[in-house]
Amino acid sequence: MSTHSSIAQLIADQPTGTTVHVAGWVRTFRNNQFIALSDGSCQKTLQVVVDRDNLSEDVLKRITTGAAVTASGELIESQGRGQTIELKATEVEVVGDSNPEKYLLQPKKHSMEFMREVAHLRPRTNTFGAVLRIRHGVSMAIHQFFDERGFFYLHSPIITASDAEGAGETFQVTTLPLNDVPKTDDGEVDFKEDFFGKATNLTVSGQLEGELGALALSKIYTFGPTFRAENSNTTRHLAEFWMIEPEIAFADLKDDMDLAEDMLKYVVKYVMDRFPDELEFLEKRLLDEEKNKPVNKRSPMPLREKMAFILANDFQRLTYTEAIDILRNSKPNKKKKFQFPIDAWGADLQSEHERYLVEKHFKKPVILTDYPAEIKAFYMRMNDDGKTVAAMDILFPGIGEIVGGSQREERLDILLDRMKAFDIHPEEMEWFLDTRRYGSCKHAGFGLGFERLVLFVTGMQNIRDVIPFPRYPGSAEF
Ligand code: ATP
Ligand code: MN
Repeated sequence: MSTHSSIAQLIADQPTGTTVHVAGWVRTFRNNQFIALSDGSCQKTLQVVVDRDNLSEDVLKRITTGAAVTASGELIESQGRGQTIELKATEVEVVGDSNPEKYLLQPKKHSMEFMREVAHLRPRTNTFGAVLRIRHGVSMAIHQFFDERGFFYLHSPIITASDAEGAGETFQVTTLPLNDVPKTDDGEVDFKEDFFGKATNLTVSGQLEGELGALALSKIYTFGPTFRAENSNTTRHLAEFWMIEPEIAFADLKDDMDLAEDMLKYVVKYVMDRFPDELEFLEKRLLDEEKNKPVNKRSPMPLREKMAFILANDFQRLTYTEAIDILRNSKPNKKKKFQFPIDAWGADLQSEHERYLVEKHFKKPVILTDYPAEIKAFYMRMNDDGKTVAAMDILFPGIGEIVGGSQREERLDILLDRMKAFDIHPEEMEWFLDTRRYGSCKHAGFGLGFERLVLFVTGMQNIRDVIPFPRYPGSAEF
């Protein structure tokens, strides 16, 4: 049997009365007669009704959870409940056996922690199938959004000699023998001997290269893997994650915020339009999960309502300074409920503060702008007040920061001063500074954490569960 139809196609077209071929994996085999067959093409399984009289005992025994099976027969309207069509199979072949005793994914509810241990098999489950299909949809939506608006996809390098944030926390890339590292006369590692002739690392951001692209093609975006060796064992951080970084020339912070808000809404709408079955499933899953949580820890809206709410409302825009005032006078601050109390202007906001603003105070996505220069990166544009920069962070309910962006400092002298303040050596970034020397112009961009967006549109609770094979401290399995 060489050509077969996907279950998604059969459910969409409903070609009842015709002979069809299908191929997939057995979810369950009920009453020695009904196979729930999944090929991963959609949320639903296809009911395959086997003809017991024409099937050997041996084949019947081999139809077990996890086995790969092909089947053919007539597609008919279903007699049973829960599905509209079913396959009346005249032929069933087990092409890949499973082992009902040893197969790790027994048809029952598993914890997310267990699923991470069997991440090689979890794509076969309802939950991860839904997440992975939506994850694909989110990336398609992002490409489509930018393409429709005349942006070019720029591939920024993964191996780089610069650390865009000046923050450290990078993974080094080297071919030097670790047990016999060449040293210079003053005892330092001699990176001249290394593959690239200098110290290199995996990129933490494609932004600097993105700026080079934007100052030539006007509108670009990057979309690639990003690596941070931060030891953050949180539900929002991965060591390897994907980032989307658009960069636009002749644009300011307002253009940047408008672009980000439009993009987020575009993606949310795309997922709602394309993945109704997945969302229905994930929403129910989340509601079940939350029954075990105390009432005040539950999300105030079911998944699809939360998504519709994003589409219906403008994001709340306010400055860091305004946010500090709100936080300073907030109940949790006065009652000393914050782990990090807010007293003075200049404090970095922690996720407890961000979540207060989004979930308690405004009850919608928030864009915070104009942060103190000291707590933001060197390349952000200095405002006229001389103490804040044209930065913006977008904060989402249940997630916290989803986007971080800014208008860039396009004035060479000010940029050089800022680099000095951050102890960044200009001679190592001459190539970057050239954009400010030749045809500099105002420009802006942002970074969107891809997995954080997938978290939002799937209602999953841990970022490790929205990437096929998560990398985090102590784990690089599969
Ligand atoms: P956070 O404060 O949450 O650590 P950040 O300020 O380090 O974020 P940026 O450097 O601005 O984040 O990166 C841009 C975006 O990339 C963030 O808004 C977030 O969505 C995402 N992001 C940052 N770090 C991670 C990570 N370790 N894992 C997954 N996504 C991340
Ligand atoms: Mn971070």
